[in-house]
Amino acid sequence: MHPVTHFLAGWAVGNAAGLGRRDRAIVAVAGAAPDLDGLGWVVEAVTFNSDTPLLWYIDYHHVLGHNIGFCLLYCAAAMWLGKRRMLVGGAAFLSFHLHLLFDLAGSRGADGYQWPIPYLLPFSDAWQITWSHQWRLGAWQNDALAGALVLLTIYLAWRRGYSPVGIVSPAADTKFIDTLRARFGKPGENRKARGLDGKSY
Ligand SMILES: [Zn+2]
Repeated sequence: MHPVTHFLAGWAVGNAAGLGRRDRAIVAVAGAAPDLDGLGWVVEAVTFNSDTPLLWYIDYHHVLGHNIGFCLLYCAAAMWLGKRRMLVGGAAFLSFHLHLLFDLAGSRGADGYQWPIPYLLPFSDAWQITWSHQWRLGAWQNDALAGALVLLTIYLAWRRGYSPVGIVSPAADTKFIDTLRARFGKPGENRKARGLDGKSY
């Protein structure tokens, strides 16, 4: 699945866990982190037509990052860098595994290759996990999931007052939230207007 889809799923996990700004970012990045092993495509693309191509994408994608060893490494770093250590470590673990689950569900290649997940690496290569009903990378299910996560992210931003933009720039995030609330009203405003806040009967 697309790294942005994974990232937004991780963002939702960080929101559900009720974490602060830095911890939310760590958990959101955990959602996309396994795909760091796909960066080899750059080297592969550059060397592909040479006499000795370096097939770093084919050889290492879904190998180096999509396993429990890398997950534990990431979670240890998350606990070291995070503020609420146990919570951020647990949420990063969940976010990381959501990535693996999404890949199992919808990352079949156009050529039919299933990109199995060697879950137990680097301790063992005994498990090469696939799912027989896995859909293709370009399938509508992935588009639907990405669309739903974008809508959820916008809703959470409107409701809670922060979005992934804040990871890069809190000032830009404030502007984004102000724009959303100017367009859709402030959270709770509609309830008040309808006399549903429990006070104005
Ligand atoms: Zn992946």
